[in-house]
Amino acid sequence: MSSLRDTLARHNDSEDSLIEQFETTLTIRPSTAEYEEDEINDISIDHTVLRDSTINYTRDHSIVDISELEENERISEQIPKFKTNRRYSLLPRYSVIKTVEEEQEEPKQEEIEFKKTPSPSLEDYYSRQKVDPKYKDVLRPSLLIDESLSKYQKTFTDFLDSNPHIEKESPRFKNDQDRTLIILSPYSSEHAFGRKWVTKSYLSTIFERPQRLLASCIGVASAVTMFPFYYKVINSEKRGSIFASHVRKIHGRNWPKKLFELCLESHEKLQADQLEVPDDWNTGDIYLNPRTINAIEGVIGTIEHAVDSLFHKPSIRQQQPPPPPPSSQQQQKQKQKQANHNLVFVVIRPPGHHSHACLPSGFCLLNNVQIGIEYAFEKYGVTHCAILDIDLHHGDGSQDICWERAGFTGDYGKDENDEITDPKSNPRDEYGKRFATYPKVGYFSLHDIKSYPTELGYATKENIKNASTCIMDHDLNIWNVHLQEWNTEDEFYKHYQTKYVTILNRANQFLNSAKKQYDEEYQKYLDQLSKYNKYLFKPHLYNGGQPLTKPTPPPPFKPLIAISAGFDASEYENPQMQRHGINVPTSFYAKFTQDVVKLAKIHTNGKVISFLEGGYSDGALSTGIFSHLIGLNNDEELLWNHTWGSEQVMRELIKGCKKNWKPYKKPNSDITIWANEVIKLGRSMMPNAVLPSNFVYSYQPEAKDIPVNKMVKELLDSNGKDSVISTSPLKVDPVDDRKVMRHTRSYYKKIREGDDEEY
Ligand SMILES: [Zn+2]
Repeated sequence: MSSLRDTLARHNDSEDSLIEQFETTLTIRPSTAEYEEDEINDISIDHTVLRDSTINYTRDHSIVDISELEENERISEQIPKFKTNRRYSLLPRYSVIKTVEEEQEEPKQEEIEFKKTPSPSLEDYYSRQKVDPKYKDVLRPSLLIDESLSKYQKTFTDFLDSNPHIEKESPRFKNDQDRTLIILSPYSSEHAFGRKWVTKSYLSTIFERPQRLLASCIGVASAVTMFPFYYKVINSEKRGSIFASHVRKIHGRNWPKKLFELCLESHEKLQADQLEVPDDWNTGDIYLNPRTINAIEGVIGTIEHAVDSLFHKPSIRQQQPPPPPPSSQQQQKQKQKQANHNLVFVVIRPPGHHSHACLPSGFCLLNNVQIGIEYAFEKYGVTHCAILDIDLHHGDGSQDICWERAGFTGDYGKDENDEITDPKSNPRDEYGKRFATYPKVGYFSLHDIKSYPTELGYATKENIKNASTCIMDHDLNIWNVHLQEWNTEDEFYKHYQTKYVTILNRANQFLNSAKKQYDEEYQKYLDQLSKYNKYLFKPHLYNGGQPLTKPTPPPPFKPLIAISAGFDASEYENPQMQRHGINVPTSFYAKFTQDVVKLAKIHTNGKVISFLEGGYSDGALSTGIFSHLIGLNNDEELLWNHTWGSEQVMRELIKGCKKNWKPYKKPNSDITIWANEVIKLGRSMMPNAVLPSNFVYSYQPEAKDIPVNKMVKELLDSNGKDSVISTSPLKVDPVDDRKVMRHTRSYYKKIREGDDEEY
C-alpha cells in the first residue's frame, strides 16, 4: 500500500495522497484538450475555507422526542412514507434504453452571432423618463458572457470524444423530457461588489460574490460527468423586465422602480466613493452596481425560461392522437419535440428567499421563487405551489409573501397604494384579512434557528416566532423545522426520518387537501350548473322567480413543487457563515431531493423547479449542487455514492474555483482524472464567472492596455470583437478612513483574536 502511495506521489505533480478509493460510475479518461493559462495572478482572498477543526461541535445525543415521533406516525398514516434508504447504489447501472437520436436543437456554431440581449426595462424606462444616454454604455454587459454556451459545448464534445465508452455505457432515458434541465443565468455574474475603498479584509467577508457561479458550475459538471445523458445544460439568454406584472404582483408598484433607479444612481455614487445603498438598509449585506440591472433581468428571464420549459408545450396526454403513423420513429420524434421537461434547476444569483415584498434583505433583492410561481400562475394557470426550502437560513421573505397571499398584511409588505390590483375589489375585514387569492402557496422550511434572521443581534421575538411558525389553516400552509446536531450520519438520518421529513409530509398534506378542496368546489359547481340548466327550462319554478346567474367553474387544479435550494447548511460551508456547527452531510441533498421528486410524481406529474438560494463556500456549493442534481433526476434509484461526498472530493473540486487553476498534467488516480474533467467542463460553462478572488466592479470606459487572457481572447476572437478585461481596482489594504457600512452585517460578525470590533 505504501509503495503505491509512493509511486503516486512520485508521478504526480501535486496530487494529494489517496486515503480512500473513489468510485465513479464510469471510468473516465483524461481528455486531450489543453486548457487556458492565465497571466493574471489571483491574489489570495480565500473563499474555499475548509471546516475549522478548532470549532467544537457540541452534538446532541438525546433520542428523538416521543411525542414528535407519535405526531409523525399519525401524519404518515394518511400519506405516503418517505423512508431513508441508507443503501447507496455503489455499482454502475447500465440500463441503456436508447431509441431515437435527440434532435439537434442548438444552432450551429457558425450561425451564432455575438450579441448581448438588450435591457427591456431600460428601454421601457427610457421611453417614459429622461435618462442620460451614458447609461447605455455603463450597462453594456461583460463581453465574456457566452450566451450561446459554445465553449461548454466544445468542452463537452471533447470529453465524450476522449471517452467513447461513455456513449455506449451511460444510462439514458427514452424521452428527452425525462432529462433534468439545468438553466444557467449568464448575466448573474454582473452583480458584483463595487465599493473600491474597502480593505482587502473587508472584501473577503463579502460572501455573496459572482465567483459562486463558478463553484456552482463545477457542481453541475460533477453530476454531468457521472450521468452525461441524464442532464441537459443550457444558458438562458432571455432578459426579463423588472417592471413585468409578475414581478410587481409580488413586489408592488413602487419597489421595482426604486431598485432600478438605485442601480442607475449607483454609477455616480460608486465613482465618487459613496455608499450606493440607502443608509437604513442592511448595507453590509446589500450592495448594488449599475449592471446589477443586467443580473436582475437575467435572473427574471431565466426564471421565466425555466417555467416555460415545464409548461409551454401542451402535455402529451392532452394532445390529439397523431394521424396514422408514417413510422413509429417519426411519431417518437414528434413526441420528443413537443415534450416539456419535468425537472429543472436554475443557477441564479443573487438569491431571493430573504427578500420581502418591499424590503431587500440578507443578500436578496427580489424574491425569485415567488416571482417564478406568480409567472407560472399568470401564464400557465398554476393554482398551487409548495415551496420546500432547505437553505441554512429561514426564508423569512418567502414566508412573509405567503402571509400576503393569504390576505394578511406582510411584515414588510405592500400597502394599499402599492398593490397592482385594486384593493377595493377584495377589501380587508375588520381583522385586516381579505380573501386569499390564487396562486395558493405553501412554505415548508428546514433551517438552523440560531442563524440569520434569528442570529444573535437579529433574534427578535418576532423573527424567532416567524422561523418557528407551524400552521395549516386560515389560508396559510407554513411549516418550519429546525436542524439538529448530529455525530454520525446514522444519527443524522434518524433526525431525517423522524423530524426533517415533516416538511415533505406537510407539503403532501397541503397538496392533498388542495386537491380535495378543488374536487369539492368542482362538485359544487356541477350541482349549481345542473340547477341552472333546469332553471333555463322552467325559470318560474326556481329561485322564487329571480333570475339565476350561470355558475363559473373553479380554475383547473394545477399544482407545482418548488425547491429553494440553498447549500449553506452543508458540512463544507465556511465556518464564518455557519457558526453554530449545525449542518447536513452532503448526501442529504441527494436523498432529500429524490424524496421531493417522489412527492412530485404523486402530485404534479413529476414537475419540480429548483432555485439556487444560498451556499457561500466553494466546497459547499460544488458538492451540494453535485448531490442535489444526483437526486434531481428521474432514475428510480438513489444514485448517490458515499465516496462522492468525501472531503477528498471537495478538496479536489475547490481547486478548480481558483482563477488561476491549472489542471494536473499527469493525473493518475480515478479522482484526479475525474476532477480534471469536471473542472474543465465547469469552467467552460460561465467564462464570465472565472474572476480573481479580489474582483471589484468598476466602470472602465477607456481601458485598452490590460492584458487579455487566453480564454477571453478565444471568446472575443470567435465573436469578432476586440475588447479588454477589467482588473480589480482594489488597492492592497488602503487606509479605510470611512468606516461607513461597518454596522449592520446580518450574516457575518468578524471574530478575530485581539479584534473586538464587530460589524
Ligand atoms: Zn442561506
